Amino acid sequence: MTFRAPVSEYEFLLNHVVGYDSIPATDRFAEATPDTVSAILTEAGKLCDEVMAPLQRNGDLHPAHLENGVLRTSPGFADGYQAIREGGWVGISAAEEHGGMGLPQTVAVAVYEMMAGACLSLQLAPLLSQGQIEALEHHAADAIKELYLPKLISGEWSGTMNLTEPQAGSDVGALTSKAEPNGDGTYAISGQKIFISWGDNDFCGNVCHLVLARLPDGVPGTKGISLFLVPKYLPDADGNPGKANDLKVVSLEHKMGLHGSPTCVMQFDGATGWLVGPEHGGMAAMFTMMNNARVGVGGQGVGAGEGAYQHALAYALERKQGKTASGFIADHADVRRMLMEMKADLFAARAILMACARAIDMQTATGDSSWAARAAFLTPIAKAFGTDTGMRVSETGVQVYGGMGFIEESGAAQYYRDVRVTAIYEGTNGIQSMDLVARKMMDGGEMAFALIDEIEEQAERARATHPNMAEAVWQACESLREATEWLVAQQDMQDRFAGSVPYLRAFARVLGGHYHLSAAMADRGGAREKLARFYITRMLPEHAALLAHAQAGAEGTFALCLDELAG
Ligand SMILES: Cc1cc2nc3c(=O)[nH]c(=O)nc-3n(C[C@H](O)[C@H](O)[C@H](O)COP(=O)(O)OP(=O)(O)OC[C@H]3O[C@@H](n4cnc5c(N)ncnc54)[C@H](O)[C@@H]3O)c2cc1C
Repeated sequence: MTFRAPVSEYEFLLNHVVGYDSIPATDRFAEATPDTVSAILTEAGKLCDEVMAPLQRNGDLHPAHLENGVLRTSPGFADGYQAIREGGWVGISAAEEHGGMGLPQTVAVAVYEMMAGACLSLQLAPLLSQGQIEALEHHAADAIKELYLPKLISGEWSGTMNLTEPQAGSDVGALTSKAEPNGDGTYAISGQKIFISWGDNDFCGNVCHLVLARLPDGVPGTKGISLFLVPKYLPDADGNPGKANDLKVVSLEHKMGLHGSPTCVMQFDGATGWLVGPEHGGMAAMFTMMNNARVGVGGQGVGAGEGAYQHALAYALERKQGKTASGFIADHADVRRMLMEMKADLFAARAILMACARAIDMQTATGDSSWAARAAFLTPIAKAFGTDTGMRVSETGVQVYGGMGFIEESGAAQYYRDVRVTAIYEGTNGIQSMDLVARKMMDGGEMAFALIDEIEEQAERARATHPNMAEAVWQACESLREATEWLVAQQDMQDRFAGSVPYLRAFARVLGGHYHLSAAMADRGGAREKLARFYITRMLPEHAALLAHAQAGAEGTFALCLDELAG
């Protein structure tokens, strides 16, 4: 089964749904015209289809492994990475002064989503480098930028993020890794980090770790954490990889999926590191990388879902069972329902992802705080709904296959197993939802209400051509407004948190209705209008049940005591 990168889907979304034209209208991104972007997406599509997709099964069947302490990646991954490098895809959105292409995040996110559909485990390596590049661009000292950025941007060296420790997962503030000043401007980093994606590889000249650790005078909790750049090899006087640093990969995790991506236990034993950002200001610096990665991981979910959808559709168009118009199972009503739900949800999740990336670009280009607030609000939705969609679509993909979906050789199960972690890493989807209803509503819900107003205005405009769909979206939006008013009125945060996951999902459902309605208006009589009708009639109504749950408060959630839970 071949993978086909969804280039035309992106062209339609950017040009007709998410308002991409505002980006090249800025001075900063004036060169990223729709034609240029189309050419870039087409080129990236070739990389995905011809180079990365053939590696997808290799990663699953031949996981990365340690050989006498040396990390060996899956067959073909080194060549695949080389092709990514040579195409300049690692530094696609990095600043031009250090060798990047300087393109908008919107383009980078689209390219990386397509790469995720082709081979998720390999895509994660340059995705992490990209996040590190952005963190260094914003927070590193000039000397570090000059030395590291060109090599990271060219892909000669790779980047990782090291937050997690056995006792410090979601609760990053509980970390115990230490940093001691060496007296020469460097620091000695000690501690163990677990679950470090691409903690090592055999195809880059150096692996650069961004590590969170605590200085001797760092207070407990997140406020006492600092960020350090700790390379595998210490650069020599010419900036080339020199002496090995005091760090190693202790072991690799045996995982449910994503086998091509080595997930490492890292040991730092007084390794030399350089401070990035101010002392004790590590979380703010790391958040630059984390926010970048959150949007990127949302794209991983959508990409893996796209791969699963294409796979399932191909099977449904060749499998014969029972009597149907075409002879194939794709014409059974229930199989059709599954395929339509997959396609409609992918469209919604992809549009939300693009709207979020566009807000990030507009913030970068204009410095306007309202774009920053929009990007911040949409980020947890893009991450959680994108990855939930990836899980749901790939799970439905297994169902489309019937028994063959449960058999590994069909490949359907791999999408399901691979994408599962995207709802867990980069902040679990529960943590994303809590972020949405707490930090992202510290403005009293101002950004949420601004988006709701926009959706209703668009629904009003759509009444002339699509009265029924417009009314459904408008009504859903009113319900979302009421739920948001209820939410911001809750003083006890447990009442917000208990319903945060259904609230985030309901918000995404309504945003999905909004973007589908835009698609219907742009493609009258076309397939996208029909898909929009399916989504708005059959999937958007889910918002009502979700919002009822979101407004039920915490009391019922805690109704059973712990003994009763076990009883
Ligand atoms: C394959 C893989 C790759 C990874 N790659 C990296 C990497 O490259 N770098 C890195 O640093 N880390 C990485 N991680 C770690 C990942 O980010 C963490 O697993 C994740 O943040 C969750 O932490 P945890 O596993 O300790 O779960 P826990 O924090 O123990 O969470 C368990 C459950 O409790 C919930 N929970 C926890 N705290 C709260 C709270 N305050 N309120 C409500 N619910 C809560 C969670 O949502 C979850 O459902 C990776 C993990 C995996 C599995």
